[in-house]
Amino acid sequence: MIIVLKPEATKKEIKHIEDKIHELGLKPMLSVGKERTIIGIIGEEDKARIQPFEAFPGVESVMQIQKPYKFVSREFKKEPSVIKIAPGIEVGGNEIIIMAGPCTVENKERLISIANAVKKSGAKVLRGGAFKPRTSPYSFQGLKEKGMKFLYEAKKITGMPIVTELMDPRDIPLFLKYSDVIQIGARNMQNFELLKEVGKTRKPVLLKRGMANTIKDFLLSAEYIISEGNHNCILCERGIRTFEDTTRFTLDISAVPVIKKLSHLPVVIDPSHCSGIWDYVAPLSKAAIAVGADGLLIEVHDDPEKALCDGPQALKPHKFDALMQEMRGIASVIGRTIA
Ligand code: PEP
Ligand code: MN
Repeated sequence: MIIVLKPEATKKEIKHIEDKIHELGLKPMLSVGKERTIIGIIGEEDKARIQPFEAFPGVESVMQIQKPYKFVSREFKKEPSVIKIAPGIEVGGNEIIIMAGPCTVENKERLISIANAVKKSGAKVLRGGAFKPRTSPYSFQGLKEKGMKFLYEAKKITGMPIVTELMDPRDIPLFLKYSDVIQIGARNMQNFELLKEVGKTRKPVLLKRGMANTIKDFLLSAEYIISEGNHNCILCERGIRTFEDTTRFTLDISAVPVIKKLSHLPVVIDPSHCSGIWDYVAPLSKAAIAVGADGLLIEVHDDPEKALCDGPQALKPHKFDALMQEMRGIASVIGRTIA
């Protein structure tokens, strides 16, 4: 159950409602949004139903949400959410936002050169991992804090906001300082303590779908972030494990319309990790635009043969540039734009 408050609801009125919820043995979850302030009731819904919250001062309406996830659901919010990640850069609006860059930050010069190249082609956000979730502990683990500083330098030079992966809540201060979007990787989609911690910040979060998780699991993970008060959540479909093994994962293209029906959150597709092979990145990217994705997260490297991570799936800058041209054509057919 969700109680929507009147814009003019006072602190005293809110406290009165919260006290009543506690009295019923339930937990109130106050969420102060840009558009409205709500109190989510966590616990057994039946207990809350007996209380006519509509009659309380400061209450605009009371909503019964049927889905297991509440704040992320379309029932809760009809209009699509538009997440602002930097001045003039919003995900979920008419413009499709392209995020591109290397899998991992390798050194400053290479990062800046790739950043300049993708920016020239129209990418709006620079991606690059400084903390890498590698399957093997012996693989390159990322430049860590040094990598974060290189990303920040690349941002100062190019003006591009940064999306980069967080794995450990102890690094949040570093991410608040140097990043614009906190990426939660597929392997951490159900790291609930990590989700709660990013939920306590107000930084935009790019939450990637776990490789073996259903859309329901995915939306419940987003609910962890939003129920802590951070409404700036962007979802990213990056491929799931199936019996098919010619590609690294299988892109669940239907996730885009399905999520858009169930949720108001914007959806981005990662065509690089789902296939694992650069040759498939362009066709999958074009499909992503056509199916209604609000953005793409694409790996680009100027020398994939020497890449420290994920070289086989990286697009060279000239291929990325050609893909951008093709994607603009598809976007215009469906009435959207790409820079
Ligand atoms: C990444 O985008 O850098 C990454 C590691 O992706 P995923 O979490 O989807 O595997
Ligand atoms: Mn990668």
